[in-house]
Amino acid sequence: MRELVEAVRERGVGVGTDVVKVDMFLNHRMDTELYVKIGQAFAAEFAHKKPELVLTVEASGIAGALTTAIACGSIPVVFAKKSRTRNVTGEVYESRVFSFTHGVENHIRVAKQYLPQGARVLIVDDFLANGEAAEGLCELCRQAGAEVIGIGVCVEKSFQPGHQKLVDAGYHVHALAKVTGIEDGKLIVED
Ligand code: 5GP
Repeated sequence: MRELVEAVRERGVGVGTDVVKVDMFLNHRMDTELYVKIGQAFAAEFAHKKPELVLTVEASGIAGALTTAIACGSIPVVFAKKSRTRNVTGEVYESRVFSFTHGVENHIRVAKQYLPQGARVLIVDDFLANGEAAEGLCELCRQAGAEVIGIGVCVEKSFQPGHQKLVDAGYHVHALAKVTGIEDGKLIVED
């Protein structure tokens, strides 16, 4: 997606050798126009597969999931929660996810009633690195007996193994911008 590729290239920052910082428009300050276009781009890629809900994980996946769900005809968004709160009552599906950015293991949970058996699910997240978050969300769908019709990520770090792992597992993965490397704080972004 041209606008996102340009934003990552011009306004993104590389931290060390493997962290991409896009706080200016995706992760802290949110460029709403860009997020609307992100949703439209995912809808263009996946709408023919007739998603019935968009699944993401809190917090940074929610904005893109919401604009995608609206662009897919205002289907619901369900976001997996990372903390065991009293808000998630009753029976939950749960999986473990190792967080790339925080270096800790999280449990992610979704109330069973919000992830129905047989639902056609589109997974959306802001980043794809090692594929842990996406795999954890796929695992929740597996437990629910829901069908993952695709995985959309705003920014993929192609030098990390997540994309290949998910493709090898048989998923349709679509990234709107691909960072192929980081050199002296500068991001190398595929055209
Ligand atoms: P994975 O689970 O694929 O290893 O990492 C994806 C998750 O970690 C995303 O939900 C995203 O929030 C976070 N993440 C991974 N790498 C980066 C990065 O370079 N920059 C930012 N901002 N988030 C990242």
